[in-house]
Amino acid sequence: MVRIYLDYAAATPVAPEVLRTMQPYFLEKFGNPGSLHSFGQAAQAAVDRARETIARALGAQFREIIFTGSATEANNLALRGATAAGMKRVIVSAVEHESVLETARSLKKAGVEVVELPVDKDGVVKLPALGKALIAGPALISILYANNETGTIQPIAKISKMVHAAGGILHTDAVQALQFLDCRGDTLGADLMTVSGHKIYGPKGVGALYVRGKGPGSRAKNHAHPTPYSLSPIIAGGGQEFGLRSGTENVPLIVGLAAAVEYIEKDKAKYARQIAAMKEQIVRGIKKIYPRAQLNGGKNSLPHIANVWIPGVLAQDLLIQLDLAGIAVSAGSACTARSSQPSHVLRAMGLSESRAKQSIRVSLGRPTTNAEATKLLKVLSSLRRQKAGNNFPSH
Ligand code: PLP
Repeated sequence: MVRIYLDYAAATPVAPEVLRTMQPYFLEKFGNPGSLHSFGQAAQAAVDRARETIARALGAQFREIIFTGSATEANNLALRGATAAGMKRVIVSAVEHESVLETARSLKKAGVEVVELPVDKDGVVKLPALGKALIAGPALISILYANNETGTIQPIAKISKMVHAAGGILHTDAVQALQFLDCRGDTLGADLMTVSGHKIYGPKGVGALYVRGKGPGSRAKNHAHPTPYSLSPIIAGGGQEFGLRSGTENVPLIVGLAAAVEYIEKDKAKYARQIAAMKEQIVRGIKKIYPRAQLNGGKNSLPHIANVWIPGVLAQDLLIQLDLAGIAVSAGSACTARSSQPSHVLRAMGLSESRAKQSIRVSLGRPTTNAEATKLLKVLSSLRRQKAGNNFPSH
């Protein structure tokens, strides 16, 4: 059976050219970047080059990029690092990825003041609520750039102006946004930003945190941001990554992350158009098959994610039927795929529990073809006919 993968928001395959760039660092160039001999120097040079590449893509300085073992860890470093350095308040949106939401909740248990901001029906943060939360004093605000379940894009540039005017620090999780949107720190105005390898055709188990103004001679002094801020490390050890993330640098994965960042820069606009057109085709097709189906989230969303409510069809059941037909989609984020709870993102958007449980996420990638999109619609159509034939209520 030919298998069709439509779950690129959960993980992308490693691009062959990314893999080729990584390979020597598993085999012949395996030195520890901390070692002084030539093996160590070669590894250190590779980490330096990777840092330069990522800094360039994010409009950052060399020392502003901190490599981590995942985006989850980068998000933890942003929130826990800021509070460990003295920040007393944390503001997050209700639709954050679990790595932000659960971190904020655990900080709350430890005595940090945490505010969870509501979102509107499209999943966009309610700015008046943010404005109100900012009045109470300096805070670290963490709002993801684009949602991993719905693709909804947040007005980060606007949010950053509000946050800075109130003397706060803005962190944004750009894991899903990076391959389509401009994520340069200066354009966005974010002080901290998280990226991950495996959503951009790079390896799993590697991420990075952009930390504006990290290190001596940085731009922190002349940046308009009024609040001096710092992060404390959350992992103690040998002091790698400018003291912010100890542990021997994972050279092949770091090299892979940088190669992936370069990979997604190539033909960025072409792929965004191509993928958006296929998403449109899929959503239109699903609505034809299920006339009451609706897109969850507003129009301003990433081109590759379609979160669709199909009334009367349980997402978990549909997912299994599609998988049996060789097609992989998801019922929300991969992190909570095994949970029976409805999506916290859809619930925060005011959607009912039953609607949340009847919603599937189809996410497309660079390798997705029109033929694959057509096949998905064909299979959905035949499942719908079978269901009608079985006299199941199909609404
Ligand atoms: N943030 C977002 C928006 C994500 O989609 C993901 C991936 O599921 C993560 C964070 C976590 O990334 P990682 O798997 O690198 O920890």
